[in-house]
Amino acid sequence: MFRLRKNLGEDSDWRISSLAGLLGFALTAAAMEIVSAYSVPLTTSSIILSAVIGSLLGMSLVAQRSALCVRHKLHEQNKWLDGAINNMIQGLCMFNAQNRLMVWNERYRAMYNIDPRSIWRGCTVQDLLGARIAAGTFPLNPERYEAQLRAALKQDKPFTHTVDLSDGRTVAVVNQPMQGGGWVATHEDITERRRAERELDRTRTFLDTIINNVPSNIIVKELPSLRYLLINKAGEKHFDLPRENMIGRTTAEIFSKGTADLIHQHDLEFLRSGREIISGEHAIITPTGNTRIVTTTRLPVMGEDGRPQYMIVVIDDLTERKRHEQRIVHMAHHDSLTELPNRAAFNECIGATLELAARAGESFAVLCVDLDRFKEVNDVFGYSVGDALLCEAARRLETACQGAFLARVGGDEFSIITPTGLQPATAVILAEQLVAAFDSDIDIEGHPLRVGLTIGVGIYPQDGADAATLIANTDAALSRAKSEARGSIRFFETSMDHQLREKRALQQDLRNAIMRDEIALHYQPQAHIAGDITGFEALVRWHHPRHGLVPPTTFIPLAEESGIIIALGEWVLRSACREAASWPRPLSIAINLSPVQFQHGDLPSLVHQILLETGLPPARLELEITEGVLIGDFTRAVAILRRLKNLGVRIAMDDFGTGYSSLSYLQSFPFDKIKIDRSFIASLNQSQQAATIIRAVIALGRGLDLPVVAEGVETEEQLKFLASESCDEIQGYLIGRPTPIADYADVVGRAPAPWPKDLAAAS
Ligand code: C2E
Ligand code: MG
Ligand code: MG
Repeated sequence: MFRLRKNLGEDSDWRISSLAGLLGFALTAAAMEIVSAYSVPLTTSSIILSAVIGSLLGMSLVAQRSALCVRHKLHEQNKWLDGAINNMIQGLCMFNAQNRLMVWNERYRAMYNIDPRSIWRGCTVQDLLGARIAAGTFPLNPERYEAQLRAALKQDKPFTHTVDLSDGRTVAVVNQPMQGGGWVATHEDITERRRAERELDRTRTFLDTIINNVPSNIIVKELPSLRYLLINKAGEKHFDLPRENMIGRTTAEIFSKGTADLIHQHDLEFLRSGREIISGEHAIITPTGNTRIVTTTRLPVMGEDGRPQYMIVVIDDLTERKRHEQRIVHMAHHDSLTELPNRAAFNECIGATLELAARAGESFAVLCVDLDRFKEVNDVFGYSVGDALLCEAARRLETACQGAFLARVGGDEFSIITPTGLQPATAVILAEQLVAAFDSDIDIEGHPLRVGLTIGVGIYPQDGADAATLIANTDAALSRAKSEARGSIRFFETSMDHQLREKRALQQDLRNAIMRDEIALHYQPQAHIAGDITGFEALVRWHHPRHGLVPPTTFIPLAEESGIIIALGEWVLRSACREAASWPRPLSIAINLSPVQFQHGDLPSLVHQILLETGLPPARLELEITEGVLIGDFTRAVAILRRLKNLGVRIAMDDFGTGYSSLSYLQSFPFDKIKIDRSFIASLNQSQQAATIIRAVIALGRGLDLPVVAEGVETEEQLKFLASESCDEIQGYLIGRPTPIADYADVVGRAPAPWPKDLAAAS
């Protein structure tokens, strides 16, 4: 417990001396009165004696009085100091130069839970540490602690450290040497402060992490120096510069002059206003030379004096968004492959051109361009070659267009709008330029490809006073050009419109044709080169109530276009199989399949079902397909063909030689037969080339162990040639025309009939 001791004499002052003097004087006077009262003559010595006695008495009285005063005062001071020391929040110990404890407070004792009996005035550091170890409040090594303490004190240096107690408290200890020896030790429980600091640290780290990872670009500048103080990760990325190259620097030291001036101007604007400001869209160039479009928000952080101390700048980088927006606008109007304007852009352009032409009383032309043989290229060489071909075609068209508006409106379809002016002259010149642009081969990945153009032309206002009619009529002109002569240029004619309507009407009639019993099958015999008939090909016929017999070359495309072919094809399959199954002789039956039948429904299951239904042995059925089946989804088509083949039916490649890639298709599927297109047989007597091709195909068939059938054999001469080339089979008017099966009743074994004389002679 604290006890204050003070030297008495130290507190005398002049007032006490004066008081003593006065009292001495009074007492001297009193002594002289007493001496005279006892009739003692007042001699000098008696006067002096009286004065001395009086002074001594006075001094003694005053001294007693002042000692009382001082004691009282000290007591008061002790009380105050005692109160102060014992009410300190720190624990306090004071040691003298002999390392003995002189003063301590209750806080110290309680803080370390020291037994009151183990702490006394004059105890040593060792005693104290022992008491604390016993109380479990000294977790350090006492020898080492003492040694460190002494070493520090010896050098007259404070010895400070923190102690983590086992109960979770942390105490900060400061041992401060005192003048003249000894030291004061303060012990402060900093558990709460530590916790608060840790909390603060955590909060700061948390905030730092957030600011650093926030996807916005954030920088902080110091005011008024405008030096960079902080930059987050996104900001670093934005400026393309590590933060160490920015922090502590000014804008002028980082950016090029133009950008630095602009940023500085915005900073000054902020400084002038002293409050949040937003700088609208502007471009800056990063130190690495990238242009970024940004908006910035500057916010003040106030200092204690109420003035802005820091400036937070939040940068919103719009560059990507802008690019994206531009890209979206571009994509909405452009074809991603060729980068040409798309159909939407074409529609807009035709609307605008039409308005202009109408106002000026001028005309303009629309050209619909179709790339010939594109689908085949795509199919044979793959999509990458197909895409490259489209791009090159687009480039050639663009050059040939010479400024006319060109758009890609479909897979291999392009549309062109000529500027207003003299028509049809301008359109004719343009169309010829386009065709000429495709005169040479297009080399794609080493493949020399030759594609042609088929062009339909419509002219405003005569071929359509509004965009929809003009486009429809131009399309009709293109359709006509495609169906009549690929590679040609066709202008729209009013008759086309009429024909188009007729076509639609015919398509409509076809929908009901099966139901109305207008569809029939004709059968054309197929024979071995020696003459014996091996089977028949079923060929569909349409007896139209008004138009009479419509050829399959006319209505099959109509049926394919409208999807009617699915029902029609099924009808043909079922009828032909039923018919063949009814023949007494087990002749084969060849049935044509449309590519559309491969794209919809489950063809193998249908064939299987029909075979079961009709009882026709699969081996007697031969399905004829053209290249068209394999164009498009090749993998799917081959998979279907395999399933069909697995049923036990045979697959023949029809019209061989007319397609683009007959040879490559032969490699992709094990066909059972090749049918040389009749156009080669028809050309036999006119062209040496035809004979060469036929010879080559027969040789190919032999090589692949595939029977070859020659179609369209009409003459003995043709037959002789084919026989001399060892062609396997023939089909054509020479053997028999396609007619109702009743005409071949004898051949199928229903009724005896004479063998055709002329054929017997030929073989
Ligand atoms: P295709 O399969 O090549 O049929 C052979 C075509 O050649 C038939 O024409 C036939 O009448 C004709 N032809 C046969 N021999 C001769 C001849 O010696 N001289 C001449 N000039 N022509 C001859 P058609 O019947 O007009 O059939 C044309 C095409 O229509 C067929 O060609 C075939 O691709 C298609 N077709 C016919 N029937 C069907 C069918 O049921 N389904 C499908 N998808 N297509 C069919
Ligand atoms: Mg055929
Ligand atoms: Mg054929």
